[in-house]
Amino acid sequence: MNERIYDAIIVGGGPAGLAAALSLKDNNITDILILERDKELGGILNQCIHNGFGLHTFNEELTGPEYAARYIKMTEEAGIPYQLNTMVMDIQPVEENGKVFKAVTAMSATYGMQMLKAKAVLLAMGCREKPRGALNIPGYRPAGIYSAGTAQKFVNIDGLMPGKEVVILGSGDIGLIMARRMTLEGAKVKLVAEIMPYSGGLKRNIVQCLDDFHIPLLLSHTVIRILGEKRVEGVVIAKVDDNLKPIPGTEEEIKCDTLLLSVGLIPENELSRNMGIEMSAATRGAVVDDYLQTSCPGVFACGNVLHVHDLVDNVSKEAVTAGKNAADYIHSFGDQDTTLTNAVDPDTPLMKKFAARNATKNGVNPNDIITNADGSMTYTLPCINCPAGCIVQVTLKDGVVTDVSGNTCDRGETYARNEVTAPVRIVTSSVKVSGSDKPVVSVKTKDAIPKGKIDACIDAIRDLTIPAPVSIGDVIIPNVADTGIELIATSPASAL
Ligand SMILES: Cc1cc2nc3c(=O)[nH]c(=O)nc-3n(C[C@H](O)[C@H](O)[C@H](O)COP(=O)(O)OP(=O)(O)OC[C@H]3O[C@@H](n4cnc5c(N)ncnc54)[C@H](O)[C@@H]3O)c2cc1C
Repeated sequence: MNERIYDAIIVGGGPAGLAAALSLKDNNITDILILERDKELGGILNQCIHNGFGLHTFNEELTGPEYAARYIKMTEEAGIPYQLNTMVMDIQPVEENGKVFKAVTAMSATYGMQMLKAKAVLLAMGCREKPRGALNIPGYRPAGIYSAGTAQKFVNIDGLMPGKEVVILGSGDIGLIMARRMTLEGAKVKLVAEIMPYSGGLKRNIVQCLDDFHIPLLLSHTVIRILGEKRVEGVVIAKVDDNLKPIPGTEEEIKCDTLLLSVGLIPENELSRNMGIEMSAATRGAVVDDYLQTSCPGVFACGNVLHVHDLVDNVSKEAVTAGKNAADYIHSFGDQDTTLTNAVDPDTPLMKKFAARNATKNGVNPNDIITNADGSMTYTLPCINCPAGCIVQVTLKDGVVTDVSGNTCDRGETYARNEVTAPVRIVTSSVKVSGSDKPVVSVKTKDAIPKGKIDACIDAIRDLTIPAPVSIGDVIIPNVADTGIELIATSPASAL
């Protein structure tokens, strides 16, 4: 049995865990071990094949697998050891010779049960989706009900389609992204129902995932019944009042064979709870001090296990801070008071930021078009280049853009000009692979293509099967749908 003492153990090999490990190494901590329960590093990013990752970290718009691949490469080049298929079951503080170590129990088929110890532990377990059980929708439990993330894994990793006629409950980003993904794979997404009077997702995702495909978003609506005993046959939706209660008489039956739930994420906090760490009611993750240290000294938290992040760039940044602070803790290990005290102030800037963020959900829905006295048209649209979603006004006269305002960067101006004259989009999807243990690899157009060519692009790849091996960046189609743009692989597949 491995009973080694490490300087630092990192639980979770997603973007938070990898960035924290690299930060520890940068701060002269080399005795590190990453424990990851999945069969590969990268976390949730491996199934997020859409683009939109890394604008801040790499100043590039990458897909999830491409962003993950960069961190995996850096981790391997830094020689940081990791174990895959290894699930951490328990973490407990243990006192030895006046020093408090963290005892980590991990299970894996390869290494068996391991009782490891570390001076510091970094929690980077990510988050998970709320299940239907959390919603109390009446009806049987027929096949065809999935969380949006589960459906995302089926389609993007396993190459399987969960259904053909889909209703999505909840307009968080995963629900919006899956509305587009299912549509591109040939399903009919009938509608997205959102109980709140505003969408929980980013404006850019409403534009490029719903509006682009004419998928209706019904705000202040919810699913009140699921129809069907063996397989979903439909759902009943209803409008809700200001107290979020269904309004009698507004019920409408929608035929579908699949219901996707995108009703929120919660930090994966069983390990933290079992350890007795103080938890925050606002974030549902651990309460941390300004050093991202939990109420158990030497246990740090970062990424989605701490609070759910919209942007992976912020996850990576936070994890760098956690790694640096953990390194400082390890360098002075044994000098500090080893009594387990609750040194955490629930009023830290992070906690305050959350209270403020929860209070300021906005419900802006622009997309206005005004005809001016001189015959020009002014469009108000949210920029989809980055999550900031600036509201841009662009005026068009006789097919020529005469004014752009409201953008906060040059890319915003370019986007607005294109959007009213010749809109373009980067297309992301997947392609079947033969001769590999992976059924599909993810792909994207290397540059944006005309919006009107999206269907032709998808048609060109729908029945395509490419042989393994495939590397990120491989050209799959040199001139997809006669756009002059390459379709390239964004995830790898090795040959059997
Ligand atoms: C559908 C979706 C779309 C998104 N779109 C965007 C986007 O467009 N742009 C953007 O910037 N961000 C996006 N994000 C956000 C971003 O991907 C996440 O914030 C980020 O991946 C979180 O990183 P993490 O390391 O905290 O968690 P994760 O990526 O979830 O990694 C956590 C890891 O911990 C492992 N783990 C958990 N428990 C244990 C255990 N007990 N033992 C061992 N290992 C364990 C898990 O297997 C996992 O690999 C999206 C997220 C989702 C879910």
